Amino acid sequence: MEVTLLEATENPEELVCKAARNDYSAAFVGGQSLDATMETVEGDTLAEKQETLIGHLLDHGHYGPFEHPQITFAVEGVSRSCMAQITRHRHVSFDVQSMRYVAFDDVDPADVREGEMVVIPPSATDPDWVGRNQQSGAVDESTVEERAEIFRDSIEDAVESYQDLLDLGMPPEDARFVLPIGTKVNMVMSMNARMLMHVADMRAAADAQWEIRGLTEDLLDIAADWCPITFDYYEREMKNRKNRLAP
Ligand SMILES: Cc1cc2nc3c(=O)[nH]c(=O)nc-3n(C[C@H](O)[C@H](O)[C@H](O)COP(=O)(O)OP(=O)(O)OC[C@H]3O[C@@H](n4cnc5c(N)ncnc54)[C@H](O)[C@@H]3O)c2cc1C
Repeated sequence: MEVTLLEATENPEELVCKAARNDYSAAFVGGQSLDATMETVEGDTLAEKQETLIGHLLDHGHYGPFEHPQITFAVEGVSRSCMAQITRHRHVSFDVQSMRYVAFDDVDPADVREGEMVVIPPSATDPDWVGRNQQSGAVDESTVEERAEIFRDSIEDAVESYQDLLDLGMPPEDARFVLPIGTKVNMVMSMNARMLMHVADMRAAADAQWEIRGLTEDLLDIAADWCPITFDYYEREMKNRKNRLAP
């Protein structure tokens, strides 16, 4: 999987601060400099004042101001299973690569065995990998080799069947029915900073599946550069605690 930043609100934390100060100021923040808007906030510099205010908002559960900054990510190569999970979040906007209009007719099924076109989960190749809902613990090398063989045979066969159906003139939108849920997909997704924290509350948590956790950690890494005060606070004080951004 690869996650890249496509677009994001410039000066997101100034925007959060202006929105929040609007709530408590008699003056109109629209025509004001940021210095004037932040005048009564504790801190010697503007950076310190932003840190004070953002920390205060997150500490008190005043999350509305974090809905103004927007960020858009491009995500390459997650499974359709992961896509089904992340698209459950209703305040995130998505564009998802079509399997009606994109036909994967030039993929070599032999390469599918090695991870082309279909995600191979770590439990198919790593004997020490223990899934959260797995009854047994780690397995021996020969068991995992057997798993890998069954898994690789199955996905190679599925892609071969898909391409045979395309060759027989079946439309891609119908031929895709034989493809596995691990088939890779590219997405573009946009959300605001509050929603990103909510997604992280749910999807970076220990009970989320490894793939969506990995995706969410990549989103958080990008967010840490985009909104450093907010996501630093989130990492320190909120992540892996009780979900507070939405019940
Ligand atoms: C570990 C894990 C396992 C899961 N397993 C399953 C499963 O087996 N089957 C399954 O179907 N789903 C499953 N889900 C999905 C889960 O139930 C949610 O649908 C998904 O995480 C979306 O999150 P959300 O409910 O917070 O809603 P979001 O769409 O992210 O909305 C954010 C918040 O807005 C509010 N909100 C949005 N829409 C409404 C509404 N219509 N009414 C009231 N409040 C609303 C809620 O406060 C909500 O928390 C699982 C999620 C996780 C993290």
